[in-house]
Amino acid sequence: MEQYDIAVIGGGAAGIVAAICSARKGARVVLCEKMPRLGKKILASGAGRCNLSNERLDPAFYNPESRALVKSVFERFGQSSIERFFRELGLVGHSDNGRIFPASNQASSVVSVLEMEIKRLRISCKFHCDIGGLSASGDGFVLRTKLREVFPCRKAVLCGGGKSYPALGADGSGYLLARHFGHRIIEPVPSTVPLLAKDSWCHTLQGQKIRAAVYGFAGGRETGKASGEVLFTKYGLSGTAILDVSEELSIAIHRNGEKDIFVSVDLIPFMEENELRDELSGRLRRGFEKKDLVTGILPGKFSAALERELRELDVPGLANFLKNRRFKIVGTRGWNEAEFTAGGIDTDEVVAETLESKRRKGLYLAGEILNVQGRRGGYNLAWAWASGWTAGAAAAG
Ligand SMILES: Cc1cc2nc3c(=O)[nH]c(=O)nc-3n(C[C@H](O)[C@H](O)[C@H](O)COP(=O)(O)OP(=O)(O)OC[C@H]3O[C@@H](n4cnc5c(N)ncnc54)[C@H](O)[C@@H]3O)c2cc1C
Repeated sequence: MEQYDIAVIGGGAAGIVAAICSARKGARVVLCEKMPRLGKKILASGAGRCNLSNERLDPAFYNPESRALVKSVFERFGQSSIERFFRELGLVGHSDNGRIFPASNQASSVVSVLEMEIKRLRISCKFHCDIGGLSASGDGFVLRTKLREVFPCRKAVLCGGGKSYPALGADGSGYLLARHFGHRIIEPVPSTVPLLAKDSWCHTLQGQKIRAAVYGFAGGRETGKASGEVLFTKYGLSGTAILDVSEELSIAIHRNGEKDIFVSVDLIPFMEENELRDELSGRLRRGFEKKDLVTGILPGKFSAALERELRELDVPGLANFLKNRRFKIVGTRGWNEAEFTAGGIDTDEVVAETLESKRRKGLYLAGEILNVQGRRGGYNLAWAWASGWTAGAAAAG
């Protein structure tokens, strides 16, 4: 039976970089991936363009519990290291308002250069290799696949990802492997996810996109705000602004079981409420019919959605309604549509400098499997590359 220095579980962003880094340091590495190929989630990222990092990698853009760990990792492998790493592999990047994409605008370019390096380093890749057991054996570990193949190794790097988009591989099985060593898992919930709303507008406006300001509320407190696109769908609300406030609302719904959840949408963010009042009053004075009061301000479908309010509300009431349109949120679209996982292995349980488990020596953890969540904008892949590198370097060190 072949004995490896390092076994990496999970061939996503974190696992691929961990394997490359360890192999460059001379370790004999096996990379175990349950899917038929590496990097399936990278291929789907950024709508096929892969927003692979951000010029401003600041811990402030991550969940508060993770910031000390994120800071420690980015001090070792930050944006300039990520850029150099990919440049050396042959990937040319470009910045779009600080967000880094491959110049080809194709996520497949990112996976291709990583695969070239895996091949050059002769890393042993095992596909359809679903690790169902990870146990201690002497000073090292034994990995067992669900088909009873066995991989003994000195050290293990667990990069099994979270639970979002199970069709792309990660389904939470990595948490079970970590739990075996006593790791605490902060309950994972879907994040960066469309929201289910109970509201007739979603039907009336189905397919309509607007630019708006969005505020999330749970149990009477504001949980977050964002500006950008809101997309009305038959089940509720989507679009970048909704995705950006979804994490805290998802935690409130799925983890805390809170009921009083809503988003307040400012449909006309480009005017203050008093300006909007003046505009609407001016329109009435100029002889606009009430049903046409928002024509030319909002897309045409809104006149139908607003039929009752246009008829019944006075100008101050209508302006206030348009600036604070509330949608009751009753759930999220769940794991199949969540771009990210909020929750995961408690970041206090890894050594900040190495990402080695505090529960078991020789076990390292990297990527989305940890309770680290970045904003949209390349922060999650940046964390995956940087943590993969840190864990791979320490494991081979
Ligand atoms: C649709 C979509 C778009 C996104 N776009 C962006 C973006 O543009 N920018 C950004 O920064 N982030 C983006 N993200 C988030 C980002 O892609 C992830 O945070 C990142 O890829 C996580 O990397 P990872 O290696 O930790 O986990 P994953 O990429 O999930 O990799 C984990 C791997 O482990 C394998 N695995 C799991 N369990 C086992 C097991 N038991 N045995 C063997 N293998 C196993 C899985 O098959 C998977 O390949 C996006 C996510 C999605 C879903």
